[in-house]
Amino acid sequence: MIFNVELILPAIILGSCIGSFLNVVIDRLSSGKSIVTPQSHCDKCKRFLTPLELIPVLSYIYLKGRCKTCHTKLSIQYPLSEIVTGLIFGYLMWFVINTGLSFVYWIYLCIIFSCLIVVIGTDLKKRIILDEIVFFGTVVSFLYILFFDPASLLSHIFSAFVFLGFFLFLFLITKGKGMGFGDVKFSFFMGLTLGYPQIIVGFYLAFLTGALVSLILVIGRVKSFKSTVPFGPYLALAMGISLLFGDVLWQTALRVLNL
Ligand SMILES: [Zn+2]
Repeated sequence: MIFNVELILPAIILGSCIGSFLNVVIDRLSSGKSIVTPQSHCDKCKRFLTPLELIPVLSYIYLKGRCKTCHTKLSIQYPLSEIVTGLIFGYLMWFVINTGLSFVYWIYLCIIFSCLIVVIGTDLKKRIILDEIVFFGTVVSFLYILFFDPASLLSHIFSAFVFLGFFLFLFLITKGKGMGFGDVKFSFFMGLTLGYPQIIVGFYLAFLTGALVSLILVIGRVKSFKSTVPFGPYLALAMGISLLFGDVLWQTALRVLNL
């Protein structure tokens, strides 16, 4: 196992900066605001943030989680997304180094995982999956496969349409109560990115974790069966895991099942 600190550390720092940007995307794009203007400010007193206050994670610690002027508590979402994105970028760097994958693949993974973080963020916060993010991710996946893995392009497109068809079917028979139309659109992105057989693993993981967490919430009386749980985060999580380990998990499943 190789641990290149000189590559992983910059990846973590870049990731935390991207995470800071993803917070802006999550908050502004989901409220229909521009992600470019106005510059970052305190939501309460509207004061523009100084460059020092824009440093990911460290500024939150330095400010002790409060705005310097009005002392309003800053959302934990900000440092959390920065830390998570930083760690993911770092881990992805470690992953591509240790599996002999290319630097281009690392960039591709970082873009896809950034999309997944935004999907999880907006679905948890506002119960929506942004079309812009799903569309962007789909285009990136398509272009990556087209240029770097053209032999498998058809199989990826095929799995995208099969998965989309299946979700559309689920959406129609549950009359949209089980999942939102955002999940249906997301399924195309997921199918295209994963391809076969990784999509089977992703599908299985999404339903398994979704059902498991729902069951725990219902038993713990946190939620009733009637209240809906956003499904997007499970899909996004399952997609991330399958993208990295789908192949290994599939081979293991075949071996265990003796197929
Ligand atoms: Zn303030």
